[in-house]
Amino acid sequence: MSKLVKYVDVTKCDGCRACMVACKNWNDLPAEPTEFLGSVQSHVKTTADTWNVLQYIEHENGKGDLEYLFRHSSCFHCTDAACEKVCPESAISYTKYGTVVIDQDKCVGCGYCTENCPFDVVSLKEYKDKNGKEYRKAHKCTMCTDRIEEGLQPACITTCHTGTMDFGDRDAMIKKAEQRLKEIKDRYPNAMVYNPQGVGGTQSVYVLAERPSVYGLPENPKVPTSAVLWKDYAQPIGKAMIGATTMAVVGAFVANKFFSKKFNDETQDGGDSHE
Ligand code: SF4
Ligand code: SF4
Ligand code: SF4
Repeated sequence: MSKLVKYVDVTKCDGCRACMVACKNWNDLPAEPTEFLGSVQSHVKTTADTWNVLQYIEHENGKGDLEYLFRHSSCFHCTDAACEKVCPESAISYTKYGTVVIDQDKCVGCGYCTENCPFDVVSLKEYKDKNGKEYRKAHKCTMCTDRIEEGLQPACITTCHTGTMDFGDRDAMIKKAEQRLKEIKDRYPNAMVYNPQGVGGTQSVYVLAERPSVYGLPENPKVPTSAVLWKDYAQPIGKAMIGATTMAVVGAFVANKFFSKKFNDETQDGGDSHE
């Protein structure tokens, strides 16, 4: 099955925020009132109840002119997803469309995915069970995989009225992004296609008007080396040698030891900066 890509050309976005509303509607996410932040941006970043956020960035371009830059920001659905690699419960997986989804039944709320995502777009939500016991679950954009299953496009894409977003076969979307880049280079000399190879490429491919750092994005995001070694090498060998159940216990220990915030802060191997 060909991978499906969300194409986002930020140079066409007018900041209407319809994509945010469509996401809330389709996914039945509650409203999340916020304080005035000194800008028209509503939320600082994505949260467990707000899976995409419209960034509004005041930027002085190379000619000394002030520009307003917009960016629809949500999960990138990385081809090599750090969140999937560090999850000790195998609660995060890839679908046949290339999207990255979280199985809420398996998620134990450990937060290693939130700590290791190079783009800081997955968040924990707190719940209480009927006995008052607190627990947490991780949430993020699903790329509307439930809609894709029904032959529909993601809700945010369907609602975008400016042609900022498109959805389709990976090769076609990347070709479209490269073509668009040629068209806008005169106006935006720093423009680029953002499809970072340090995470194996992404299923959300952006045409950015400026360098990634202007949008608070890592210039060269990477999956932590320790996570690659663990998921792709140690785990399969361990399962073969000591069985899946014992390996799950070992996995929880390793994740706690190596993929916690403390370890991440020490190595800073997950990317240059966060949104
Ligand atoms: S952007 Fe973060 S949450 Fe989304 S797939 Fe990549 S690592 Fe996982
Ligand atoms: S793809 Fe779906 S879940 Fe993701 S931001 Fe768009 S509407 Fe929300
Ligand atoms: S719906 Fe389209 S134009 Fe409106 S804010 Fe979202 S990406 Fe921009």
